[in-house]
Amino acid sequence: MDPLKALADAERKPYWLDSPARPEPRPRLFGHTDADLVVIGGGFSGLWTALMAKERDPSLDVVLLEGRRIGWAATGRNGGFCMATLTHGLANGLERWPEEIDRLERMGVENLDEIERTLERYSVDCSFERTGELHVATEPWQLEGLNEHLDLISDLGLDYRPMDQAQVRAEVNSPTYLGGLWERSGCAMLDPARLTWGLREACLRLGVRVHERTPVRSMDDDGTTLTLRTPHGRVAARHVALGTGVFPPLLRRLRHFVVPVYDYVLMTEPLSDAQLADVGWRNRQGVGDSGNQFHYYRLTDDNRILWGGYDAVYYNGGLVKPEYDQRDETFVKLAEHFYDTFPQLADVRFTHRWGGVIDTCTRFSAFYGQAHGGRLVYAAGYTGMGVGATRFGANVMLDLLSGEPTERTELRMVREKPLPFPPEPVRSGVIQFTRWSIAQADQHEGRRNLWLRALDRMGLGFDS
Ligand SMILES: Cc1cc2nc3c(=O)[nH]c(=O)nc-3n(C[C@H](O)[C@H](O)[C@H](O)COP(=O)(O)OP(=O)(O)OC[C@H]3O[C@@H](n4cnc5c(N)ncnc54)[C@H](O)[C@@H]3O)c2cc1C
Repeated sequence: MDPLKALADAERKPYWLDSPARPEPRPRLFGHTDADLVVIGGGFSGLWTALMAKERDPSLDVVLLEGRRIGWAATGRNGGFCMATLTHGLANGLERWPEEIDRLERMGVENLDEIERTLERYSVDCSFERTGELHVATEPWQLEGLNEHLDLISDLGLDYRPMDQAQVRAEVNSPTYLGGLWERSGCAMLDPARLTWGLREACLRLGVRVHERTPVRSMDDDGTTLTLRTPHGRVAARHVALGTGVFPPLLRRLRHFVVPVYDYVLMTEPLSDAQLADVGWRNRQGVGDSGNQFHYYRLTDDNRILWGGYDAVYYNGGLVKPEYDQRDETFVKLAEHFYDTFPQLADVRFTHRWGGVIDTCTRFSAFYGQAHGGRLVYAAGYTGMGVGATRFGANVMLDLLSGEPTERTELRMVREKPLPFPPEPVRSGVIQFTRWSIAQADQHEGRRNLWLRALDRMGLGFDS
């Protein structure tokens, strides 16, 4: 189908949030109050932090402040790939922290197991399906990349199944596939908005005081108490945890380490049984192709296809703006790629199109830290893989607040910070040149130019 026609009726809003199950917002904060712990940000990062703070110590008085609606940002807009990896993939983790990769992989799987158990404990129905992820090669050079990946993992005892062209097409039927690798247990598919709302409900049940539409405008420190000012009130906090993603940070130093990168997504109408039979996909894995500019796609519980990725856009100046949530040029490109991948679905139309902002950092995986004499903690920089990893980051924040060393806080990955981005306007120039180089590499059989190789040597990069 002509992409413009296929997109003509697609709503310009995130499919997941466009649901009658979306709860009414909790009341704004009015007046003054105090708390043992104030969590700022109502995405996955903040929700996990508030929930687990109460689980660790039910007597703690915890307040969560969200500037808009719970889960309205990246948390309610993502692909719903809930991955075990804490390092934005094994290759990135192995490259940066080879001596602790075994531990990082084990802790990542434990984190994913704990997420599954939390859903059971609080009866959260978010269509959690532990299907794994199918990495597919659509160009010969990508097959080499998958084979290298297989070599890396063979020592780690992970559950991966390599697939030739016939095998991978028997899983998911696309004429573009040349081979694949099914990572079988390290990833679950879920509905991110229903997870968010379930976590909110669990927080409320444990007594967290949740205020939505309550942006924190400023923070003062008198040496013992951090005072957070909101439009209609203020909170005096003994401790503060920041789960504010890529938004202008209350801690100035964070702005050197994270930049906003926009990622875009389409959702199809539900497939008929016949259409689904044409694609196969009986094991319902998440799928990712293996270019530097990659697509990710998956089935929903009512057999729509979520189709996202490819263009990771940095807007010069590095601002977060509502108008960046829509990008027609990218939506058309995504629709074209969808029909190239699944020509048998030429009749399928799209019902939703949206974008969201990712907190990218130069090492692609989150970093953690403390400020204000250890009374404030933060975790940021999940770079497009935070659905599962935010729970680990929340645990790190709570460990740091407790002051007791743990296996998590002793990790080099947790103790080290990423290299900062240069300031604007150099930042925009460097990022746009890097994006151009990445696109060139994909067009030239993965060959990386001098610039990308120099960045690789410095352990720097740009990803989503
Ligand atoms: C299109 C897209 C697809 C993605 N797909 C995947 C995927 O499939 N798998 C995966 O693992 N990850 C994915 N991600 C990334 C994932 O969504 C994020 O890593 C994760 O949601 C980050 O959660 P967070 O809570 O840190 O940030 P956010 O969800 O951005 O939440 C931060 C919250 O803080 C609030 N806030 C900020 N400042 C203040 C303040 N001063 N006062 C009060 N509140 C404040 C904001 O309003 C916001 O609600 C994707 C992201 C996007 C955009």
